Amino acid sequence: MLSFDESAALFEQARASVAGGTSSNVRYAEAPAPLFFERAEGPFLYDVDGNRLIDYVIGNGPAFLGHAAPAVNGPVAASLANGQSIAGQHRGEIRLAEKIKALVPSAELVRFSVTGSEAVHGAIRLARGYTGRPKYLKFEGQYHGWLDNTFISTKPGLNEAGPRETPAPVLMSRGQAAHAVDEAIIAPWNDVEALARTLERQGREIAAVITEPAMCNAGVIPPKPGYLQAMRELATKAGCVLIFDEVITGFRLGLAGAQGRFGVTPDLSVFAKAVANGFPLSVIAGKRAIMELVEPRGQVVHSGTYNGNITAVTAAIATLDALSADPGAYQRLEQHGERLMAGIRASAKKHGEPLLVQGYGSIFCTLCTEAAAVHDFRDVAATDGNRTAQFAGALARHGVRTTARGVWFLSMAHGDAEVDATLAAVDKALADLGRSR
Ligand code: PMP
Repeated sequence: MLSFDESAALFEQARASVAGGTSSNVRYAEAPAPLFFERAEGPFLYDVDGNRLIDYVIGNGPAFLGHAAPAVNGPVAASLANGQSIAGQHRGEIRLAEKIKALVPSAELVRFSVTGSEAVHGAIRLARGYTGRPKYLKFEGQYHGWLDNTFISTKPGLNEAGPRETPAPVLMSRGQAAHAVDEAIIAPWNDVEALARTLERQGREIAAVITEPAMCNAGVIPPKPGYLQAMRELATKAGCVLIFDEVITGFRLGLAGAQGRFGVTPDLSVFAKAVANGFPLSVIAGKRAIMELVEPRGQVVHSGTYNGNITAVTAAIATLDALSADPGAYQRLEQHGERLMAGIRASAKKHGEPLLVQGYGSIFCTLCTEAAAVHDFRDVAATDGNRTAQFAGALARHGVRTTARGVWFLSMAHGDAEVDATLAAVDKALADLGRSR
């Protein structure tokens, strides 16, 4: 069993100077506790207690080629002497934009930002500018960042969330602008009829329908067959801009993202995380007629000191080059993930632990529940979140790091040896969990 005493001591020390001890509230939920790491390489994290953990968080998604990937860090290191943020254009921006255009079906024009949250913000502003409508529709349980306008109903308490078919918008942070709830219309995900009814009722005031094309922030939930196609048709009929938030799914579910995998083309898309293997870069991509509103005569403003900076752009070009150079890598990744999922299911069965393992080879979830599948946020809310987090804590003590909410991110650096070692740890963690019942 690993211990994390030095991490615990450093967390206490941190709290004296870093508010709350971390720089992102997401990290409070880490299992078994917020840890401190010395370094990260490939599929591994090395912590301050001298432990090596197999990492299935990989930064919450970015390190898709593995941590400190030489294919990315080499070109980035070579670029550093040329400067970082120059408040000017460079050839790299054109190269990266051309690459994304070639790979992503919805990308007629692109813009670069730094984080997923702000790229979502930009996409919704573009949709409002394009349609002249005031509101947007999002789905309960989906996360589009922590900014005031979209940090709504990502994990609402069921006492506040209203009826399943017509959920109430719920603010997620103290201090958030209260009027944010007036702009957001919430719908349950994976429910065509509920979406159709909402758009019929309120479509004329809705600028954008925004969705994670596969839900990855509450469980990992595939769209039901035909659901995204129906969403596409309904959004078009209602005159709403359809935005796919591919911050997690982009370049992970395939080189063409979820939109390529499911064959549904949104009007705008947002990418981040895997696109630059851990360097901060996000992308707004979409239809020319909408995207070109950022030109001065279009009067939609999108700015940022670090947008298109040399370092992150170099990282993204290198990442997409590496992914494009080895198309078989996606198949291997899916196989590793499928083997992991099957092994975890078998282990849970052996230990008599009701555990749902659902998702894709490249990203899946383990949720403590008797349910055979989850289809939307309310399904996930009905699972035993505390036990799911306990399982993640037990895994960490056996050298495997996953998210406390039960989501596992794979990287291209996870191989058969890591899968075998992980399954051995899963077996021990489930035995520990059984003893805690
Ligand atoms: N959208 C989705 C789907 C995400 O998963 C996230 C981050 N987890 C964001 C947006 C926000 O991205 P960032 O943390 O880079 O602001």
